Amino acid sequence: MSTQAPIRRNTHQVQIDHIAVGSESPVIVQSMTNTDTADAAGTAQQIKALSDAGSEMVRITVNSPEAAGKVAEIRRRLDDMGCNTPLIGDFHFNGERLLQEFPDCAKALSKYRINPGNVGKGVKGDEKFAYMIRTAAEHDKAVRIGVNWGSLDQSLAKRMMDANLASANPKSPDEVMKEALIVSALESAQKAVDLGLPENKIILSCKVSAVQDLIQVYRDLGARCRYPLHLGLTEAGMGSKGIVASTAALAVLLQEGIGDTIRISLTPEPGSPRTQEVVVGQEILQTMGLRSFTPMVTACPGCGRTTSTVFQELARDIQQYLREQMVVWRAQYPGVESLNVAVMGCVVNGPGESKLADIGISLPGTGETPVAPVYVDGQRKVTLKGDNMAAEFLAIVQEYVETHYGEGGAKRSSIRIIPIKAS
Ligand code: SF4
Repeated sequence: MSTQAPIRRNTHQVQIDHIAVGSESPVIVQSMTNTDTADAAGTAQQIKALSDAGSEMVRITVNSPEAAGKVAEIRRRLDDMGCNTPLIGDFHFNGERLLQEFPDCAKALSKYRINPGNVGKGVKGDEKFAYMIRTAAEHDKAVRIGVNWGSLDQSLAKRMMDANLASANPKSPDEVMKEALIVSALESAQKAVDLGLPENKIILSCKVSAVQDLIQVYRDLGARCRYPLHLGLTEAGMGSKGIVASTAALAVLLQEGIGDTIRISLTPEPGSPRTQEVVVGQEILQTMGLRSFTPMVTACPGCGRTTSTVFQELARDIQQYLREQMVVWRAQYPGVESLNVAVMGCVVNGPGESKLADIGISLPGTGETPVAPVYVDGQRKVTLKGDNMAAEFLAIVQEYVETHYGEGGAKRSSIRIIPIKAS
C-alpha cells in the first residue's frame, strides 16, 4: 500500500449522526436507493443491502407526500434491523412543503440535500429555500447544497451570461456556465449561513457529467471555500464506461486531496445489484491506498499458459467470498480489510506474487504438474491437488483470518488507513 498520502484540502468537519465528513476524517462512501420511497419495506431492505455492502450514508428520494410519509417508518425499520446508517433526504421542487407537512420525516432524516436550481424562482424560491434551511437548523441537521449541471439556476446563469457579454474580455459560454455552477453553490451556502445554519453543517457539490469539466469545477470550488465536498460524476453511465469515467475523474481529484465523500452514479445493468456503486466507490479508495474496506485479490490476467478457466473461476470465487464475509468479519475480525490474497495462473509469476501476499496460490498452467502450492506469509505451507482445490484454499483463508485477526491475533486492529493530513 502506498505511503504517499495526498494532503487533504482543509475543511470544516460536518457531523452526520456518527459519521464525520471533512478533512479530519477518511473519505466517506455513500450511495442512493432506486426504490420507490413510498415502499417503506422495499426501501429499507435496499438501504440495509447498501449499508451491508459498506455504504456509510444512504440517500433516498423524498419527492411526494407518499414518500415523505414513509421516511420515519423506513428509519424505524432500519433501527429494528440494527442498521444505524444515516439517511439523506433528496429534495427538489416541493421540499419545503414536504418538510412542513411531515415533521416526522424532517426529524428522521440525518441530512437534507437541497438543489438550489429547482427550489423555485424569485421571492417564492428564496422563501422555500429559507424554510428548508431553517428546518435543518431547527432539527440540527446537515445540508448538502447540491448544484447540478442539468438543473442549474437559470436566472443566475442568465445574469452571469449577460454580465459576461457586457465585459471587455468575455469568456466562452462554457466557462461562464462552469463559473455559474460554483457561484450557485457558494451563494446558496452563504444564504444558508445568513439564515442561521452553521458552516459546519454544510457540504457542497457541483456535479457535471464530463470528466475534465468535473475536475476543473471541483479544483476551483475547492480553492474558494472550506466546506467539505461531495464528489461524483453525475450520470456517469452504465457498465465499464460509468466505472471508468467516475474513476478517472475522482482519482485525479482525490489525489489532490479534494473530495470528502463520494458517490458513484452508475446506471445499473438490468438485473445487477444496486450495491455495485458502493463496491466501485470502495475500490477506487482502496486501490488508491486511501482506505481499506475488503480484502483484495491480486490476480494475474491469464495468458496462453492458462488455457483452462480454473484460475479465473478461483479468483472470482475468492473475491466474492471475501466480500460476502465482510458483513460479519468487519465486526468480528478488525483489520481483516487489509488482507491481501493472490491467485496466480502459472509458475512464471505465481510463486513470487504469492509470497508477497498474505496468502497466495499458484495454479498450474498448461502443461505444468497439476498441483497448486499455497504460500502463507511468504512461506510455502501446503500443495493442493485434485478437484477440491477451491474449497481447500478457502478453508486456509478462513483459518488465517481467525488466527491472525481474531482475539489475540497478531494482525487484529492493524487497520492500515493512511493517516489523514490536513493542509
Ligand atoms: S502468471 Fe503465468 S498465467 Fe498469469 S499472466 Fe503471467 S505468465 Fe500468464
